[in-house]
Amino acid sequence: MAGYDAESGGAGRGLDGLPVMALSVRESCRLDADGVIETLRPHEAAGYLAREPHLIVSRPAAARRLNLSEFQAFDLLELYAFVRPARYCLPTLGGLMKALSLDLPVATLEDQCMAMRAVAERLLAEAGSEIWRYRAGAERVASMMARAGWAWGPMVMGAVRRFPDHSRDDGLRVWTALPEWEDMGPPPPPGDDPVDPASSESRLAELLGDASETREGQRRFAAAATHSFRPREMEGGPNMQILEAGTGTGKTLGYIAPASLWAETNGAPVWLSTFTKNLQRQLDQELSRLYPDPVRKARKAVIRKGRENYACLLNIEETLTAVMQRGALPLGGGADRDSVLMGLVVRWARFTRDGDMIGGDFPSWLGAHFGAARIAGLTDRRGECLYAACQHYRRCYIERAARKARHADLVVANHALTIAQAANRYGDPDLPKRLVFDEGHHLFDAADSAFAVALTGLEGAELRRWIRGKESGGATRARGLRNRIEELIADDADAKALLDGVLEAARVLPSDGWASRVAGAAAMTRFETFLMEVRAVVLARANNVEFGLAVEAGVATPPPALLSAAGQLAEALSGLARPMVALAASLLARLDEDADILETGDRGRLEVAARSLKLRAEMVKSWTEMLLSLGGTVPDIFVDWFELDRVDGRERDVGMRRHFIDPTKPLADMVFTPAHGVLVTSATLRDRAADKDGDGWAGVDLRSGAKHLPVVSRRLAVPSPFDYAAQTRVIVVNDVNRMDAAQVASAYRELFLASGGGGLGLFTAIKRLKATWDKIAGPMEEAGLPLYAQHVDPIDTATLVDIFRDDPHACLLGTDAVRDGVDVPGESLRLLVLDRVPWPRPTLLHKARRDAFGGTAYDDMQTRMKLAQGFGRLIRRAGDRGVFVILDARTPTRLLEGLPEGVVAERLGLAAAIASVREFFGR
Ligand code: SF4
Repeated sequence: MAGYDAESGGAGRGLDGLPVMALSVRESCRLDADGVIETLRPHEAAGYLAREPHLIVSRPAAARRLNLSEFQAFDLLELYAFVRPARYCLPTLGGLMKALSLDLPVATLEDQCMAMRAVAERLLAEAGSEIWRYRAGAERVASMMARAGWAWGPMVMGAVRRFPDHSRDDGLRVWTALPEWEDMGPPPPPGDDPVDPASSESRLAELLGDASETREGQRRFAAAATHSFRPREMEGGPNMQILEAGTGTGKTLGYIAPASLWAETNGAPVWLSTFTKNLQRQLDQELSRLYPDPVRKARKAVIRKGRENYACLLNIEETLTAVMQRGALPLGGGADRDSVLMGLVVRWARFTRDGDMIGGDFPSWLGAHFGAARIAGLTDRRGECLYAACQHYRRCYIERAARKARHADLVVANHALTIAQAANRYGDPDLPKRLVFDEGHHLFDAADSAFAVALTGLEGAELRRWIRGKESGGATRARGLRNRIEELIADDADAKALLDGVLEAARVLPSDGWASRVAGAAAMTRFETFLMEVRAVVLARANNVEFGLAVEAGVATPPPALLSAAGQLAEALSGLARPMVALAASLLARLDEDADILETGDRGRLEVAARSLKLRAEMVKSWTEMLLSLGGTVPDIFVDWFELDRVDGRERDVGMRRHFIDPTKPLADMVFTPAHGVLVTSATLRDRAADKDGDGWAGVDLRSGAKHLPVVSRRLAVPSPFDYAAQTRVIVVNDVNRMDAAQVASAYRELFLASGGGGLGLFTAIKRLKATWDKIAGPMEEAGLPLYAQHVDPIDTATLVDIFRDDPHACLLGTDAVRDGVDVPGESLRLLVLDRVPWPRPTLLHKARRDAFGGTAYDDMQTRMKLAQGFGRLIRRAGDRGVFVILDARTPTRLLEGLPEGVVAERLGLAAAIASVREFFGR
């Protein structure tokens, strides 16, 4: 395979004639067709890339590094996505080599140029091999991409044509090649047999296997968790078990054991919910212990995410058709990037496991290559699904996943979906009755997002599009309410009149271009006028307007112009909600009246349409209530405020927001109460420092929502088996001026060098993160320690963490999202450095909660928990060792009391801290 000669494959230039470019922060290396190596400064490298297509890894990364806009390139990542669709690979040269099992030197840029050529040769050889696994439809797709000017097109065409495609697969019309799902009918009613502690322990022992040592804490966990799998004793009072399990306990298998037993015995699924999509993937991997046979696993366990994560085949078809009809001939020698993207998307769609575009097997880095919005536009992001009326319904990834979940034993979900499903389908007897919430310390925030209401420009425009479809631009991909339901109500004049009423009333919502009209005081609708007045109030009253960040203002004493705009908008929104509610009722009535003649597909469409309308009408009613409360009294369970959302001075959204002060109340009412058993677990739930006389449980009921239930929750804390005092060191650096960006950056650089990499730097502000990256990326790279950064590298956070995890010399800079998504066992994460104490942001929402939940004690508790959770990332396995550093001399000692027992923080100057890190790692 390695000897494939692309020249012989057909048209275009062969690999040997391609110049190669490897880039670093300070310099680049170019290998030309004659084998001449040249070291270049950034502006020289940019000149070469602009003049001639080179073989590179990651066009967006090169563009960012060299400050280039459009340029043609032979990007190895695009070639990989074509040749190995839906196969995981880190978007780096190292990642490509690992995926291809190539072991080549890459220490110098010159080595990297050679390795890049080898990667290209290997991929083209694979595509030209008789046994290539991904041949189906490849030639047709490559031909379309070649015509669109894709740099790799001629070489790939030459390779794939070497052997015929016997699949008779059209390639582009990917939906024709996908299997149809089969309807299995509704599952029988679930049983309600308990799981006893001894059975749970035995199942745990089976999962661990004979060779594994028994962990006493894990055994106790598995036994205690069975409380959530007993029959409920009181209506509205689920069996609630709260379990704090220190890191290393093995809590995941501890709850998989009773959950799987309950599901098998009772013939109903248990939902296992975690916080992030990345953690869903990790939890799914753990399930391989329970189901070692992949075929059985595919039947018994399913990952569920919101609809907006999955590819919509209809969107793919319509986008592809639009791209092809437009005539994909490149202008001015560049490639038609839309066609290239669609080529790679249909290749993936043909081979994907489940159609998940966000965190599944879709190459997430394509977002940086082609624009995240383009990719999101291929999912069912806006709830525009046609359901049974869609020609792809029986092949739809979303429908397949939903059906699998109904018949699976274990459903791996995330908190956002689990809460949204329970709230949106409240009262539905088919909702899951047993829920496990891992990463339970995030439940408060997940509920906060789920039950918040945003009366903003973006939300209004989204609703308008959902109702009226796309009204400008002429694209076909804009299915409004009429498209979705007209056929269902064709013989019902009243319903048709209501539909017309909804469409007409929706004209009050913001339309395309609303943001610039609002900023330019040229509002066109009552909604836009309200936004304009809100914007004016925020700019007049907010602090720190000059920094270009999000700003907010309280709703007290609104000016008369704003009050008047709010009143008029409230009236218009009432006029929208009324026909929406009536239309939903009329659709539901048809379900009853025409029960004997409706086909299953139409029943489903009516139900979904009625439910979606009702949900959105509820939102419009909430908006109206918010508007009517202006100038009066806001109910004391809520906090309202006005907000202008901005990034680097650019306005993104504006409007009024309402949050529950305690979002665990609706969480308990809507999610916990209908369930029969709820398990909440995390490594960090208790705050012992806040509860000096007790055992730290005092605040847990508040944060978990257990205090709102009519039954007493059971609790157990299982300590970590790790010796944190021996395995860690905690240092507060007391002589770095945290206001001086240069001092902070040098501290990061020297600490990362002292640990030899494996450092994660967490920042409380993106601006400071970027400033540090600018200053230290070059010197670190020269020392052989690659530095990656959220908000700098054009890669999504989960992939950045994967890259960081893969290289023990790499370091990573990030914000809260990185901390929450990081699970990096082993030496890849051995040093964690915080630039400042992560106090809560002083927002109006936080102020309201602070007033309600204990003043400064609430601030302390929140900050202590964040520090403890950050510290907890360092030690994931028995052999891990790590140092935790805070570069903030003003760190109060009381905040460090949340660290594990025996861990004592030292306050040192920077030089001593660096020496301590070196000494700890024996360097
Ligand atoms: S059924 Fe809905 S989500 Fe699925 S392909 Fe059709 S329109 Fe898209």
